[in-house]
Amino acid sequence: MKTIGVLGGMSWQSTEHYYRLLNEDTARIRGGLHSAPILLASVDFHHIEQLQRAHDWHTAGRLLATEAQRLEAAGAELLILATNTMHLVAPAIEDAVSIPFLHIADATASAAHTAGFRRLGLLGTRFTMEESFYTDRLNRSGQFQIMVPDAPARAQIDRVIFDELCLGIVRDESRRIYLSAVNALVAGGADAVILGCTEIGMLVKATDTPTPLLDTTEIHARAAVQAALTDG
Ligand code: GLU
Repeated sequence: MKTIGVLGGMSWQSTEHYYRLLNEDTARIRGGLHSAPILLASVDFHHIEQLQRAHDWHTAGRLLATEAQRLEAAGAELLILATNTMHLVAPAIEDAVSIPFLHIADATASAAHTAGFRRLGLLGTRFTMEESFYTDRLNRSGQFQIMVPDAPARAQIDRVIFDELCLGIVRDESRRIYLSAVNALVAGGADAVILGCTEIGMLVKATDTPTPLLDTTEIHARAAVQAALTDG
């Protein structure tokens, strides 16, 4: 099995979840005491969030590219970036390394395609919901219709991510905000809703709603294990 390089810490709350999922999936597939060979580069999210707020994507891209190179030099054989938002700088990371980079939106698009969903609601940070880097990549094949919540709902969803979930705070009141956004997306025609932020799974579970949810953390971790177990 190949060594999985994880660019994490964005936030560490979801990186912890990735670590568990990568190992659980490996054990499920390989059995017994098998666990995943993982190298983790965990950055200071305070710094990343300041760069996001300043729209200094150039510096953020350089910083993550350097971390990616460190992972490759340490022996990582494939790379995942454990956040949707920072895929905004995925090109800088991909250019800096020669190992395969598994884009979270590609893994999510593939899961949506396999499940037969075409009209996809998207929840995430304001960057993920509002900038084109994510929706364009998700819909590279042109087969999906992507829907996002209205502006007031997007602001609330973003606030909960940074003020609560990235700090490990899970509130019923915030779950209600998310579930009402899910319901509004379904009312607008969505067949499924993408949890397009790696912390949302802490707040909203499949059992909270009859709407099919595509949890990007679970999908991405599963895709990484599959890739790590594939030859070539
Ligand atoms: N982990 C989050 C995501 O998946 C948000 C934190 C960040 O801005 O990187 O987008």
